Amino acid sequence: MPIEDLKIISINSGSSSIKFSVFDFSGYFENSDSKNCVTSLNNINRVLSCRIEEIGTEYGSFYLKDKNKTENEKRNFSDHEAALKFILQKIAFIDHLTEEYEKKKNGHSASDNVLVAHRYVHGGKDYVKPLIAGAEDVKKLAGLNDIAPLHNPSNLKGLEVMKSLLPNARQICIFDTAFHSGVPDYAALYPIPIEYYEKFGIKKYGFHGISYAFIVNLFNIYNKHKYGDENFIKKTVICHLGNGASVCAVDNGKSVDTSMGYTPLEGLMMGTRCGNIDPEVPFILKKKLNLTDDDINKILNKKSGLLGISKKTYDFKELAEFDDEYSKLALKMYAYRIVKFIGQYAAVLNGIDALVFTGGIGENSDLLRKEVCANLTYLGLKLDGKKNSAAAKYFQSHNPFGTVNIDDSVKPINDESSSVKVFAVHTDEELQMAYESINLLNDLKN
Ligand code: ADP
Repeated sequence: MPIEDLKIISINSGSSSIKFSVFDFSGYFENSDSKNCVTSLNNINRVLSCRIEEIGTEYGSFYLKDKNKTENEKRNFSDHEAALKFILQKIAFIDHLTEEYEKKKNGHSASDNVLVAHRYVHGGKDYVKPLIAGAEDVKKLAGLNDIAPLHNPSNLKGLEVMKSLLPNARQICIFDTAFHSGVPDYAALYPIPIEYYEKFGIKKYGFHGISYAFIVNLFNIYNKHKYGDENFIKKTVICHLGNGASVCAVDNGKSVDTSMGYTPLEGLMMGTRCGNIDPEVPFILKKKLNLTDDDINKILNKKSGLLGISKKTYDFKELAEFDDEYSKLALKMYAYRIVKFIGQYAAVLNGIDALVFTGGIGENSDLLRKEVCANLTYLGLKLDGKKNSAAAKYFQSHNPFGTVNIDDSVKPINDESSSVKVFAVHTDEELQMAYESINLLNDLKN
């Protein structure tokens, strides 16, 4: 198979939105002597990004960006199938496959050279590596819907639709939980009767693993690029702060603990999720308000967090513009809980070399970074105020495209005197998915 012909589609299929990127790549095998070659991320080239929002509502929208243009359109999509079909037709991928790709090239159908990488949030106990999803796997994956009901069903829907639209392409699932599969048992297990782990696999799985893996890969490049040393930064705490938010303790590139748990509800306060609370509280509310399990689920997942405290919005950027008491309290609580997790993980790692902020809030909010870092001086950490604001301005006005560039993606924001390095980093989960899919293909080839 002429590997240079590879096109990788990365899909993040959420309950009402789809993020879709197309990458091509060249020179991977020429430049890399191993699958962990630090230059390999740089050889994957983003050629297109699309986003569809509000699927199944009257407020649908479509956004596309490629090398030459940006398109924004109000357009309604009845379901995920309609949305994905629209994208494939829009970018002429279906035509491309049927007319050109189906012609046999060098004895291979060229649609073999299309990889579709699906973000899969929860891999449960069994899926700790990327998976080429065959028909049997699809059935097994459906069995995981119960443990992540807010995420896995829409991930599966994306997989099923793409399998029917591009039947000859390889469909690969990349699991967010996989990055945390090496977290030691004493950190991953809950102190409840151990038979619940043995019978039902109940333990901390952790999420945002695709983003954390990307940051680790990027830092391999960064370290080499800046210091000629792959392991210059060993002990890191990474804060992925988006609508969902988590913190991860990373030792030598491996997750050793993380704030989300069996589900993405545990840990930090988030946009609409409560994060850690006393586990007795849901039972008390249920009794007092005569609620059903579904009501409780909705309160903790959809009505809590920034929204629940501010009574106004789940959106951090919007919230930062309000001046009322509840909004200020919500922001204070949000930062406070991040500070507590960083403290825990600095202790777990016995000190840290670096602190990384990423995700929509982590990348764009210099205010949040300043508030958090103000409480970390005991670690010898000192932020550079100017670099911190400049990084936020940069990320707010740049939308990286093409191949990843270290200086665009990694912004050091600590003062020269700081004994802990601090970074704002632009994460790219779709690129990481493409990277892992190519590695999987490489492994199979060898
Ligand atoms: P998701 O978890 O849905 O992928 P993102 O990583 O896109 O979310 O992050 C969304 C969050 O980032 C929202 O709370 C949004 O308000 C926040 N955000 C985006 N831009 C800014 C900004 N300029 N300043 C502060 N927060 C921002």
